Amino acid sequence: MDKMLEIKHLQKSYGDHQVLKDISAEIDNGQVICVIGPSGSGKSTFLRCLNLLETPTAGTVTFEGQELTGLNEKDLDDLREKMGMVFQNFNLFPNMTVLNNITLAPIKVKGIDQAAAEKTALELLTKVGLADKADAYPTSLSGGQQQRVAIARALAMNPDVMLFDEPTSALDPEMVGEVLEVMKDLAQDGMTMVVVTHEMGFAKEVADQVWFMDQGYIQEQGTPEEFFDHPTSDRAKQFLKKIL
Ligand code: ADP
Ligand code: MG
Repeated sequence: MDKMLEIKHLQKSYGDHQVLKDISAEIDNGQVICVIGPSGSGKSTFLRCLNLLETPTAGTVTFEGQELTGLNEKDLDDLREKMGMVFQNFNLFPNMTVLNNITLAPIKVKGIDQAAAEKTALELLTKVGLADKADAYPTSLSGGQQQRVAIARALAMNPDVMLFDEPTSALDPEMVGEVLEVMKDLAQDGMTMVVVTHEMGFAKEVADQVWFMDQGYIQEQGTPEEFFDHPTSDRAKQFLKKIL
């Protein structure tokens, strides 16, 4: 199946504040989508609706052929395991070593035995360049290192899609590159990714599609070339003028 996620007429309101007004979009297997747009435009809300961390007010989200909206919590949890999520602030467990951060969910949720979980964790730590940090505690690591651990932790569940919500926004500038490198490798390995980001260089280089969100809609979708070089909507033009 080529289609991984299908979003149809998605709406989300908080009280009488309608954040997402009508969003329809599709994400294919292996695609990298970068979601960009002004602060407050609903990018995080949209991402959280994809795995139903937020319950949509209306519309449907279909993941690998299964409509998530309307599933019971148990079935939803099973499908959520296949959707990795990485947040701006890493959200590592501070009282656990890096290794235990990564093995916790595979052992507890998937029932993988400890030795196998640790083997996978070490492979993932090698992949993100932190094999020597397995026994370290998160607070002893830099922000960039913590975020790479968070990515390894999400990958340990062997997800089919990875959702990133501004993964480099909380980092000191000198650490942004190391995290983007890991994400670029992941994209090259064929991972399906939805990345909310302000890193336009990354979007240009890595995205298959750029989605520009504003005012509760995806105002524009296209390849990076189309979006950055030939934006069509006035809103996108205004946005690009401010940031580039
Ligand atoms: P972005 O990620 O693009 O900056 P958000 O999705 O975080 O935007 O927020 C979009 C709007 O929704 C903002 O006005 C925000 O205040 C509001 N919002 C987000 N989450 C909640 C919530 N849990 N309750 C009420 N309002 C919220
Ligand atoms: Mg946000």
